[in-house]
Amino acid sequence: MFDQFQLHDRLLKALEPLGYCEPTDVQREAIPAAMTGQDLKVSSETGSGKTAAFLLPTLHKLLQKDAPKAGTRALILTPTRELCRQVVKHCKQLAAFTHLEVNAITGGHDFKYQRAIFRKNPEILVATPGRLKEHIERGSPDFNDLEVLILDEADRMLDMGFMDEVMEIAASCNPERQTLLFSATLDGQQYVGESLLRDPQTIALAKPRQASGQVKQQIVLSDDEKHKNKLLLKLFEQVEYDKAIIFTNTKAQANKLAGWLRYMKLEVGVLHGDMDQDARNNEMNRLRRGRVKMLVATDVAARGLDIKGMDLVINYDLARSSEDFVHRVGRTGRAGEEGLAISFITHRDWDLMVRFERELQIRFEKRKVPGLEAKFKGPKKVKASGKKAGVKKRSGENSKEAGKGNEKVKKRHRDTKNIGKRRAPSAKPAAGKWGDGFAPAPIKKKPARLDQDED
Ligand code: ADP
Ligand code: MG
Repeated sequence: MFDQFQLHDRLLKALEPLGYCEPTDVQREAIPAAMTGQDLKVSSETGSGKTAAFLLPTLHKLLQKDAPKAGTRALILTPTRELCRQVVKHCKQLAAFTHLEVNAITGGHDFKYQRAIFRKNPEILVATPGRLKEHIERGSPDFNDLEVLILDEADRMLDMGFMDEVMEIAASCNPERQTLLFSATLDGQQYVGESLLRDPQTIALAKPRQASGQVKQQIVLSDDEKHKNKLLLKLFEQVEYDKAIIFTNTKAQANKLAGWLRYMKLEVGVLHGDMDQDARNNEMNRLRRGRVKMLVATDVAARGLDIKGMDLVINYDLARSSEDFVHRVGRTGRAGEEGLAISFITHRDWDLMVRFERELQIRFEKRKVPGLEAKFKGPKKVKASGKKAGVKKRSGENSKEAGKGNEKVKKRHRDTKNIGKRRAPSAKPAAGKWGDGFAPAPIKKKPARLDQDED
């Protein structure tokens, strides 16, 4: 029961209409810990109720004192605009019986209008870092009295793409604030700026990079785009689903695939970071309201989105890292529901797929699609012939050579032209910059994002 936390009555009242009877595991642990005022670093699997786990203690704290016109009192950062909207909605539901105001600041909206929001001193702001940083540079926000700073999808917020912006935002915040980091994938290796946390408590309910236990994981061997397209159509006939999300690795591929599915008379939505905000909102609304059953998306939709009835995830392209894989797959199997995730595996993806099995401690089940068997049957056994391929395999999962056994490999100019040249300075931060509470770990080498599309 939620009464055990001694949360403000107005918050308890808001839980009834949401149908929250029992706290989830992460809520049971994180709510009382956050209510002590301590900094927290919390990991728990996708769909386990982390949003309420950070919102409830934060709202409770804000209700403890009246602080009109005190500037922003709680700031929540999210990696995408869609997640920002979702957190705002959740926050409004939980704060429905209070006077607390919540506002969103994201890219894709009018800058001047947002400046007016800051002048009204909203108590709670939910923001994507890029746009918020622009406002900070122009002096609009006042975070001097900030009481709580929250990073949802914290590992994403602190990886290369967002780290500088997040650090700059944090530096403009009241140093006495409480800081809460939440994600499904915050493992021991995750490096965290020591300036962000003070004597934090770690609550680790997800094993490192754990995939949701509610989701059945399957792979389908595939050859090329044409074959994948045929497979997709067949799977939509075979699998019973309410809503499906199909992930591609690039925006161009998302557009192309959505276009093709529409040409095949299927109603699909599409979501990626190059679309304007109205189009993005429109696509999300159509999906949430069930006007379309399928969404083709890049990783911009991989983090945090909670869509009712999403019971099928298809990795048309395999995710580039096990974290991204966990988050994509975590769009289904939420709040104890069951889900199915099917990943298309070409010869290029095989090694990466094996790595995911090892890192995530899962076993993929092979799914057969009768009549559409792939020519690729798995990696060829390497014969001990002593004859080596001409070029050494390049590092990186997307290497074309991965999984090809000892087939003859073309030698390209780009593989040899930089031999002997000096490399660019490494992006590794200076020693001592990072807190050692969470491992003075080397920066995790992430595969380069070819198609960065976050805000
Ligand atoms: P996470 O951030 O861990 O991925 P969310 O906060 O998005 O998960 O919550 C996942 C789903 O679970 C949401 O639909 C949310 O409304 C629901 N939920 C959260 N807490 C509870 C609860 N105590 N009881 C029932 N449903 C809950
Ligand atoms: Mg979440």
